[in-house]
Amino acid sequence: MITPEEAVCRIEAKSLDQLLHPTFNVDALKAGEVIGSALPASPGAAAGKVYFTADEAKAAHEKGERVILVRLETSPEDIEGMHASEGILTVRGGMTSHAAVVARGMGTCCVSGCGEIKINEEEKWFTLGGYTFKEGDYISLDGTTGKIYKGDIKTEEASVGGNFGRIMRWADQFRKLQVRTNADTPADTENAVKLGAEGIGLCRTEHMFFDADRIPKIRKMILSDTVEAREAALNELIPFQKADFKAMYKALRGRPMTVRYLDPPLHEFVPTEEEDIKALAEDMGLTVAEVKAKCDELHEFNPMMGHRGCRLAVTYPEIAKMQTRAVMEAAIEVKDEMGYDIVPEIMIPLVGEKKELKCVKDVVVATAEEVMKEKGEYINYHVGTMIEIPRAALTADEIAEEAEFFSFGTNDLTQMTFGFSRDDAGKFLGSYYSNKIYESDPFAKLDQTGVGQLVEMAAKKGRSTNPTLKLGICGEHGGDPASVEFCHKVGLNYVSCSPFRVPIARLAAAQAALNNK
Ligand code: PEP
Ligand code: MG
Repeated sequence: MITPEEAVCRIEAKSLDQLLHPTFNVDALKAGEVIGSALPASPGAAAGKVYFTADEAKAAHEKGERVILVRLETSPEDIEGMHASEGILTVRGGMTSHAAVVARGMGTCCVSGCGEIKINEEEKWFTLGGYTFKEGDYISLDGTTGKIYKGDIKTEEASVGGNFGRIMRWADQFRKLQVRTNADTPADTENAVKLGAEGIGLCRTEHMFFDADRIPKIRKMILSDTVEAREAALNELIPFQKADFKAMYKALRGRPMTVRYLDPPLHEFVPTEEEDIKALAEDMGLTVAEVKAKCDELHEFNPMMGHRGCRLAVTYPEIAKMQTRAVMEAAIEVKDEMGYDIVPEIMIPLVGEKKELKCVKDVVVATAEEVMKEKGEYINYHVGTMIEIPRAALTADEIAEEAEFFSFGTNDLTQMTFGFSRDDAGKFLGSYYSNKIYESDPFAKLDQTGVGQLVEMAAKKGRSTNPTLKLGICGEHGGDPASVEFCHKVGLNYVSCSPFRVPIARLAAAQAALNNK
């Protein structure tokens, strides 16, 4: 009755979420009592018992319980507890906070930034909607609407039928944009490939350092005083990083992977628990007081604008050396083992000046050449950068002379352009919607008027000096349909988003192509 083009255009891309994530049973939901609402940070429905720490969440999950992790905010140290949870609820944080980004990547339901909650993590209770919840009490979360319910509401698993694949194949015929994924584990990569990802657009390497057997090594590196000591600690990390890259290259089966070098402020890695501090002190031959003093020195007043991104590699080039060695050795070994023609894409974050990129790129190129010489095997590789601070967009013509690709990091670009902290904006943005100052969350839907102008300008400027420059986006906007349409219009080559949003991006990209012929 209708053409495939019409069929593709009639589906609201975002509605695919309902097919890919659990939902509440309709009858059970009718009896549910809403006790609050916050940001719909990662879609799906979840119900379970409340736990307040990642360790307790993990232990309860191992006993067979369904767990909802409730935290003031999450940090990379919570990763195992997040994995063990059906849903995550945070008091602080916006759509690009740690909890939101990581939960979306894992496909776990998350409601973030619920400022109405009064929480006492130590005493293990929180209040919301006139009730007090203690460890072990049931709550339910809807990560698609942001609603929080009292009690244990029955959920239903997602199911995808054959027509889903048919619609997706049609979408793929019409779209011009490629669709990649943001993934940093082999499991997420496998999942994203199944959902149609054509490669990895962002592998956040810092997420690979938080397992129990790795974090002590990165902590040692951070607290080391000399280059030699830092290099020794980094050498211990190479096997882990390389093994992860190899597994991901294998999961990609020849599809491209962009590896983003270490980005967060280093203090995010330092231990906070007394027993971890003691273990680190023993390992490094220091006293507990010395370790604590060194950790305190890393404190920054504004870490998001502090010693992070490529600034880490400018100060400690040995970090970029270690990462390059892992990327290149993994690529060469997987090529030999599997026959895939791997062309690593190395991405330097938070660049704001051409010379800054050149400084880190020189380290990358020298190390890559060294590795290839050692291995006696030469492969092609690309070095590019993220465009995520306004100065990079303004000077994109210069930066493009040193970059083979740009990937727009619109999470930071939004934060830096608006001057809103991505972790704190949730607190006040509500008043901006009620006062009709902003219509929607600029961290979820790209602000085309302001931030979009920088993206469009940087794309044009970049291509003016480097006509073969490849352009992508890897901020959370890469999975938002309206933002995907914008990316199509300004001529980006690809969008990259979390695995479960890949089908949404594929459909949105097809609609963008059909609606903007
Ligand atoms: C970004 O800033 O848009 C980005 C993708 O990097 P991160 O979210 O890790 O800062
Ligand atoms: Mg960023």
